[in-house]
Amino acid sequence: MSALHEIRRVRHELVRRELTVLRTQHLSPHYLRVTFGGQALAGFTSLGFDDHVKLFFPDPADPQGEPSMRDYTPRRYDAQRQELEIDFVLHGHGPAASWAARASVGQTLVLGGPRGSNVIPADFAVNVLVGDATAWPAISRRLEELPAEAGAWVIVDLGEVADTLPFRSRADVHIQWLHGDTATSGERLVAAVAALPLPDADTHFWAAGETTAMRQVRPAFVARGGPKAWIKAAGYWRRGAAGAHETIEE
Ligand SMILES: Cc1cc2nc3c(=O)[nH]c(=O)nc-3n(C[C@H](O)[C@H](O)[C@H](O)COP(=O)(O)OP(=O)(O)OC[C@H]3O[C@@H](n4cnc5c(N)ncnc54)[C@H](O)[C@@H]3O)c2cc1C
Repeated sequence: MSALHEIRRVRHELVRRELTVLRTQHLSPHYLRVTFGGQALAGFTSLGFDDHVKLFFPDPADPQGEPSMRDYTPRRYDAQRQELEIDFVLHGHGPAASWAARASVGQTLVLGGPRGSNVIPADFAVNVLVGDATAWPAISRRLEELPAEAGAWVIVDLGEVADTLPFRSRADVHIQWLHGDTATSGERLVAAVAALPLPDADTHFWAAGETTAMRQVRPAFVARGGPKAWIKAAGYWRRGAAGAHETIEE
């Protein structure tokens, strides 16, 4: 039995799997859901809403060369049907977004991990979830997993109103959608975090998105008080850099 608010790190055996695209679905102009299947998914485990898998994208110009590795969130895994959903942001550059834009049924892709899960328990009274388009798969998974007695204060910054997506949750969710140029996402998110009307209760703070923006958001979390162990911020991509993934500690 876990102690109250105990954040657990669980290691998984690192397995590489070759998966097949079963379906693709445009959720909005810039979100594409790809459903992968295949016997290779047997034993796939993802315990944490912000787990990540590594996807290996071959270079279409040099299929035998070294593939590009990128991190993605296992949005939903159905063990019975052996189906894994991943939601791709179609941002228009890079091997991953380009692969997704062209993905078709029957195509294969190699996936590795998750190597581990950082399980943030669902027993916090308040869950602050902040991020940009790349964080939405993890945030919407968290909202689905939270119990009815939890509260969630969510701020999502998206480039376009048309990419605002529906979500399901039993929790009491207060959500703000922000829109604008991704270059100024940090400023918008910081102002929204500072203005959150949070109740005085145990609060877990989580954020992910563009690295520079997340470096601004983390201090805004710290300013809201509470133990640092209950704050997690990560850079999911970095403007002008390929395949960036950074944990933001300070
Ligand atoms: C733990 C983790 C989980 C993630 N989960 C998801 C997920 O579920 N869905 C998802 O879509 N992404 C997710 N990401 C983000 C994704 O890994 C990055 O966006 C990655 O850079 C995409 O690779 P690429 O090959 O498309 O572009 P890259 O080759 O990495 O980059 C090419 C260019 O595009 C820019 N770029 C990269 N990403 C974006 C973006 N989102 N918007 C605008 N410009 C961008 C880069 O700055 C660079 O200039 C996650 C990242 C991490 C670390």
